[in-house]
Amino acid sequence: MKLILLGPPGAGKGTQAKILEDKFGCVQLSTGDMLRAAAAAGTDVGKQAETIMARGDLVPDEIVVGIISDRVDEPDCAKGFILDGFPRNVAQAEALDNMLGEKDLSLDAVVELAVDDAILVSRIEKRAAETEGGPRADDNVDALRKRLEVYHAQTAPLIGYYGEKGVLKTVDGMADIDEVSGEIAAALS
Ligand code: ADP
Repeated sequence: MKLILLGPPGAGKGTQAKILEDKFGCVQLSTGDMLRAAAAAGTDVGKQAETIMARGDLVPDEIVVGIISDRVDEPDCAKGFILDGFPRNVAQAEALDNMLGEKDLSLDAVVELAVDDAILVSRIEKRAAETEGGPRADDNVDALRKRLEVYHAQTAPLIGYYGEKGVLKTVDGMADIDEVSGEIAAALS
C-alpha cells in the first residue's frame, strides 16, 4: 500500500499513519520526524532546517524531495509506505510524481483528513502541554498560526491536484481516532 496522508498540522496524520503501519505492514515516512531527527543529530541539513521549522515555514523543496527519494529506496519501503507531511506544495507533488515514475512505483490513494482550524489550534495546544521533555519548538501560538497559514496557501491546493487525478479520498478527521481509522480503511477497500 502506497499512500499519502494529507491534512493540516494537528489533523492526526501521525496517529493514523501508525495505525495504518500496523494494519498494512507498510512504513510511515514523516518528513517532519526526519527533519527533527536531522536537527537533533546536528547534520548540515538538520541545522538548516531547524530555524525554518521553528518559525513554521517550509524547508526547501530540494531537501525534503531528496530525503524522501533516498528513504523510498530503503528495503523496508518495498512493502509500501505512508507519506506523512509530504508533499506539502504543488512543486513537491510534481517532484513526487516524477520520482515515483522513475522508480516505477505508483500511489494507491491520497487520504485527506479534514479538520476545522479551531479544532487544530486546541489539539496542538493540548499536544504541547502533554509532550514529554517539553513541547516541540514549533508548537507555540506564533509558529502554529504560521503553519496553518502555510497549509492553506501551499498545501491545501493539493486537494484539487489529487482530486483531478481521481485518487483523493476525504475522511472526516474530527471524529474519534477509531472512527477515523475505520473510515480510512473503508475508503481504501
Ligand atoms: P505538522 O504537520 O504538525 O505541522 P510536521 O512534523 O509534519 O508537523 O512538520 C513540521 C515542520 O517540518 C513543518 O512546519 C516544516 O517546517 C517542516 N517540514 C515537514 N515536512 C516538510 C515538507 N514536505 N516540506 C517542507 N517542510 C517540511
